[in-house]
Amino acid sequence: MKMYNFNSGPSILPEEVYAQAADAIHNFNNTGLSILEIGHRTSWFEEVLHEAQANVKSLMQIDDSYEVLYLHGGATTQFMQVPMNLLDTNAQAAYCDNGIWGKKAIEEAGYFGKVAVAASSKDKGHTYINKTLNVPDDAVYLHYTTNNTVEGTQWHHIPDVSMPLIADMSSDIFCRPMDFSKFSLIYAGAQKNMGAAGVTLTVVKKDLLGKINRPIPPIMDYRKHIEAGALLNTPPVFAVYVSMLTLRWIIANGGLAAMEQRAKERADLLYNTLDSLPLFKPTVAKEDRSLMNAVFILENGELEKQFLDECKKNGMIGVKGHRSVGGLRISMYNALPLSSVQAVCDLLKDFANRKG
Ligand SMILES: *Cc1c(COP(=O)(O)O)cnc(C)c1O
Repeated sequence: MKMYNFNSGPSILPEEVYAQAADAIHNFNNTGLSILEIGHRTSWFEEVLHEAQANVKSLMQIDDSYEVLYLHGGATTQFMQVPMNLLDTNAQAAYCDNGIWGKKAIEEAGYFGKVAVAASSKDKGHTYINKTLNVPDDAVYLHYTTNNTVEGTQWHHIPDVSMPLIADMSSDIFCRPMDFSKFSLIYAGAQKNMGAAGVTLTVVKKDLLGKINRPIPPIMDYRKHIEAGALLNTPPVFAVYVSMLTLRWIIANGGLAAMEQRAKERADLLYNTLDSLPLFKPTVAKEDRSLMNAVFILENGELEKQFLDECKKNGMIGVKGHRSVGGLRISMYNALPLSSVQAVCDLLKDFANRKG
């Protein structure tokens, strides 16, 4: 049976991408070698890495004042690596607190310097995005999470601040055009919207670096990665390859404007269906709803369980909400076809007819 993949991450990839990745495991570009056994310092891999970096730059429309790195350790490591590189012990950084990932970033920054919470949506269980910020003038940067994967909210504007802007874009990167040049540092784990698990994208403006006093172990120092041409140590070769293929797919399928149009079609279909069925209750303020992760509840826990069982029977996976918030969540990343959303909407309606 064909599975409908609503996983929140690792998540759905385009069929072409995993078909090409599978071929490359057997014979990479007719080299007679598997992608799994080529050296990372060969011209074969350098071509892959350079195409991935070039694809990122072209999708973001950013110039050579930025460097594109593929790093280990997930977005979670960036929670620590960002303040380690940018926040002096006596300095302070501003953070937005809009969900569990943002909170983790705040906690990690606390190991390195002072944190000012510029905005928090905790008062309403992170069901909305703050429209005003309170950023101290001396904050060395402002950090926020563009899409709150667990809670289902998304920033639909870019905060307007004078200090460098830093964003965790793990769960909505490349889902829409954006003025990426407003950011000084962007990071994203690849496994939600730009590849498979195992690698993290970090895009950093070079002039941001080298301004603090702390000694930084080389493997954690962005400058050392840049000096080494993004090959400071062995990168996850296969994960970089899959990400390169995914970026190629985004470009070949119309780029970010097309990704946004598809995302809006999917989200409109799903949210309109949910709004038309009183049984299902989206938890997030309408104007802040995520294009990527739709979070909703059924007030009756027994019915919620029954609905999840029916999803399973119909080959729909990943619909259970994150363990920290419960409820239901349907993730709709770039590669998800509209037909999958149509299928779950049909089930939502049918279930509501029978139980409502
Ligand atoms: C998934 C996710 C993370 C964690 O990513 P890892 O790669 O598991 O470290 C961080 N931030 C956001 C917004 C996420 O969605």
